[in-house]
Amino acid sequence: MKQAMVASSRSGSYCALLFIDLDNFKTLNDTQGHEIGDLLLKLVAQRLTQCVREGDTVARLGGDEFLVVLAGLGASKEDAAKDIETITDKIPAALNQSYQFGNAPFHCTASIGVTLFKGDLASIDDLMKQADIAMYKAKEAGRNSVRFYDPTLEAAVQERVALEADLRLAIAENQFLVYYQAQVDAGDHCMGAEALIRWQHPQRGMVSPADFIPLAEETGLILPLGHWVLRTVCGQLAAWATRPELAHLAVAVNISAHQFHQADFVDQVLAVLKNTGANPLRLKLELTESLLVANVEDVIFKMRMLKSVGVGFSLDDFGTGYSSLAYLSRLPLDQLKIDRSFVMNIETDDSAVVICAATISLAHNLKLMVVAEGVETEAQRYFLTAVHHCDLIQGYLTSRPLPVAAFEAFVQTL
Ligand code: C2E
Ligand code: CA
Ligand code: CA
Repeated sequence: MKQAMVASSRSGSYCALLFIDLDNFKTLNDTQGHEIGDLLLKLVAQRLTQCVREGDTVARLGGDEFLVVLAGLGASKEDAAKDIETITDKIPAALNQSYQFGNAPFHCTASIGVTLFKGDLASIDDLMKQADIAMYKAKEAGRNSVRFYDPTLEAAVQERVALEADLRLAIAENQFLVYYQAQVDAGDHCMGAEALIRWQHPQRGMVSPADFIPLAEETGLILPLGHWVLRTVCGQLAAWATRPELAHLAVAVNISAHQFHQADFVDQVLAVLKNTGANPLRLKLELTESLLVANVEDVIFKMRMLKSVGVGFSLDDFGTGYSSLAYLSRLPLDQLKIDRSFVMNIETDDSAVVICAATISLAHNLKLMVVAEGVETEAQRYFLTAVHHCDLIQGYLTSRPLPVAAFEAFVQTL
């Protein structure tokens, strides 16, 4: 605990103390004898050790009480809560698996109390008490559960657990929609759209992707979700191809790093194109700079494969991440997107003006198109398109993201 406290004061990251009490140890001890009881304790210790990372600590306090110290969690309470959620899912799952003693399988659950700490603001004694109190709350809640000393943390973790369960259900029940947000050129012709996912939750109403995409990424649910968006958009492209007034539209699909890094990503896209009959020239994939952190060679390889059939690439949120100009010239991109955070400040902040102008000129020198997103005012549009020749603009000034029928109607009014 002392070591964890020192490390945490230095790094600013949270640590957690878990108090774990087995729920029916006494029954086993009384009915099967102490030798079997000892064996269970050893197996529990093994399973706990397998659940934690290197650098975490598992200890037996006495009797059937174990302590776990988790170090190096997030620096904010919210991030720490996310980190803990994974482990507090894992521990009960590991402990609840049956134990084989002689002929009959034995089942054992645990009640877990959690408290968070940072540095040495609270004494070890106090932390032990907090974790113990939380553990008693878990017992009161009917055993086999996890409780937190801090009620706000508890609420945050429960909210995430509920949202994750909802998200799984939503995928099974297909509660999602794709909205399309127009991208127009200097002459106000709609050249295409960005596809933006929407979750129509039966109780919560429309949930913003900003609230569920991060969770989908952490849980891996982004894979089925991202694939669904791709299929839906390609189906739409194939439908528009038969309508002369809509056949020219190109649609950009956001691809998360996790999705792109799958070994068979290229094959997935090719299969969707083939199955839907969409024209690859009308499909753009929006990638973010975060994708370039790992294995740039592999990224370039995949991009080339897809480009060879006609799929285009756009670099999203340009300038907000670790933009490396060296990569920029090596990647087979077609487009840069100027991030909304720059566009938004064009009228008020000189550096935003410089960044927008420089990005447009950089892109044009690299023979890339430029899309500015989040354009909300005439002044921004004038600066971007009339003064600096930005190719396309996207934003509330032209249109909000719209359901497909409304988007089709909008295109035809231009
Ligand atoms: P993004 O890719 O940067 O998308 C642009 C966001 O800016 C969208 O928010 C859009 O509605 C919003 N926006 C567009 N014009 C304006 C404007 O003029 N003013 C303001 N204030 N906002 C504007 P949205 O739809 O909530 O999406 C948020 C983020 O969720 C997206 O950011 C993207 O990172 C992610 N996302 C959305 N759909 C998908 C998807 O299908 N797959 C993946 N992986 N991520 C998605
Ligand atoms: Ca985007
Ligand atoms: Ca963006």
